[in-house]
Amino acid sequence: MKPISIVWSEGVSEADAKETISAMREFLRFLQGVALEQNIGLAPILLRPYGNWVLNDKAGWDAYHSFRWYWESSLDQETGQVSAATLFEIVRYEPWQHAEPHLVLALLHTDLCNDTQESNGACPSVFACTEPQLITAISVRHLGHIADRELRLKCLRSLVMHNFGHLVGLPERLPPADLSAHAPGTASGDRARPCDAKCTMYEAQSIDDLMSVAAAANPGLALCSKCRHELRSVVFSLHFSVN
Ligand SMILES: [Zn+2]
Repeated sequence: MKPISIVWSEGVSEADAKETISAMREFLRFLQGVALEQNIGLAPILLRPYGNWVLNDKAGWDAYHSFRWYWESSLDQETGQVSAATLFEIVRYEPWQHAEPHLVLALLHTDLCNDTQESNGACPSVFACTEPQLITAISVRHLGHIADRELRLKCLRSLVMHNFGHLVGLPERLPPADLSAHAPGTASGDRARPCDAKCTMYEAQSIDDLMSVAAAANPGLALCSKCRHELRSVVFSLHFSVN
């Protein structure tokens, strides 16, 4: 698998950054475990916590010299929201991506809007937005309203593991349960179904929903049988792809 850079904007706390890295390590251990069950030994997957990085030698660069530049370039000053579409395009075409393809997990202290798809009206504020095999951006802003520190970190952990799953290729919607019903080939067909609340890939619909899922969750990553099946496919593609 490509190495994974972890970056965060300056308003993200050290505790949140640490929890995020710990959650990603847990996901990668789980992934390695799924590989071993199939007698596949995956090469170690590199995590690179660059944080709120700044290039020491800017050498006249106007762009790409710090994560702050990425953040500011994607920020709508009026709404205070980061545009996921803009951030994703910057990461897609940055020189570092060209030099060495990698995945990115970006933590943001500001609100995030998902403008990656056409929509009418205001840009929806989201916990996170992901483009598989490129970047997942997670906003910690909504979590700021949770007074209980432990619960807040649990919610963050859930968000990170969930979105990391999408980053490595776990789908938004699972194929229909009834495969005998001549289901369409796409996972986005009408009969696609979401995961239930016991699965890490369950999509929380609100902050209350996220809190109740995180509070009820046993420690650790938990995937439903469908998601486990999907993760096995991810492991196979990692093992047999050239990169
Ligand atoms: Zn699931």
